[in-house]
Amino acid sequence: MWTYADSRAAIRDALRLSRAMTFKSAVAGLPLGGGKGVIMLPAGHAPPAGDDRRDVLLDFGDTVGSLGGAYVTAEDVGTSDRDMAVIAEATDHVAGLAVETGSSGDPSPWTALGVQCAMEVACERAFGSASLAGRSVAVVGLGRVGGKLARLLAEEGATLVAADVDEGKRALADELGARWTDPDSALTADVDVLAPCALGGVLDDDTVPELKCRVIAGAANNQLAADAIAVQLADRGIVWAPDFVANAGGIINIAVEFEDAGYDAARAEERVRGVSDTTRAVFDHAEATGATTLAAAMEIARRRLAEAGAAAA
Ligand code: NAD
Repeated sequence: MWTYADSRAAIRDALRLSRAMTFKSAVAGLPLGGGKGVIMLPAGHAPPAGDDRRDVLLDFGDTVGSLGGAYVTAEDVGTSDRDMAVIAEATDHVAGLAVETGSSGDPSPWTALGVQCAMEVACERAFGSASLAGRSVAVVGLGRVGGKLARLLAEEGATLVAADVDEGKRALADELGARWTDPDSALTADVDVLAPCALGGVLDDDTVPELKCRVIAGAANNQLAADAIAVQLADRGIVWAPDFVANAGGIINIAVEFEDAGYDAARAEERVRGVSDTTRAVFDHAEATGATTLAAAMEIARRRLAEAGAAAA
């Protein structure tokens, strides 16, 4: 649920996000396709609350239900597990409901864990050590994923720079001993690692030349303003863990919900930690072929999609 200038912008975002979901599921080896629902808030409107929010969510649930299970919705920016419980009143095709109900719960902590795994592998490539102890990391966006990632990094002994457009997030930064700054400064901070954890499009022709980090691994979807930005990152010697590889932890956790044995948190953790191996495979393929990490990840995804298509034919 997000604010868009007009419905064209919302549709464009839904298409970009669903494309990313397709690549994400394929690279992670999940038996899922890709899809994304967007609830568009008109510019200048605050997110709905109370009965208005309930009405919006039930309408969205009807839309999801009308697809007959071809699309299953779950939490993302601007929605919570409480919202999913409301949507579930209108359709069965909802994942990420409370664990007590047999579902997989909030995906955000799992997304954060997967990003940490990808970050460690990227650090191994860039610095020769996967350890995050003593590494400086800028986390841009201290939301449900970024906040949890910052906490995990602090526990590992990383030195943090943190930023969010919401000043209310400063309390968490203070609690973790992070240096608080504005989002633009955090993006170009003199740190080892940048973790974009807000919205997409932050890596573009203007920001990439200003970056001082050696590694980028974060939760935000569609971090590159255009695919060609991956070449600029590679030319600058910056190790970029493609977003749809690094942030797959949430969907990997959700996929456990659909396994025959049902949801199990220990199995989910084992699967989410597999993001390390996937990231390594992407970097190995990029190094072996001279491709960017984006091209390598897309090639792996396309190969898996072709195999799945052939098996289904
Ligand atoms: P969220 O809404 O909980 O958090 C986003 C945070 O970013 C908020 O605190 C917001 O104030 C902040 N923000 C917004 N614009 C900003 C800007 N320009 N600069 C700095 N901060 C800004 O969302 P989330 O669930 O934590 O998701 C964060 C990103 O990760 C999104 O791109 C989302 O699509 C992606 N993602 C999330 C999950 C998940 O499990 N929730 C899974 C995969 C990918």
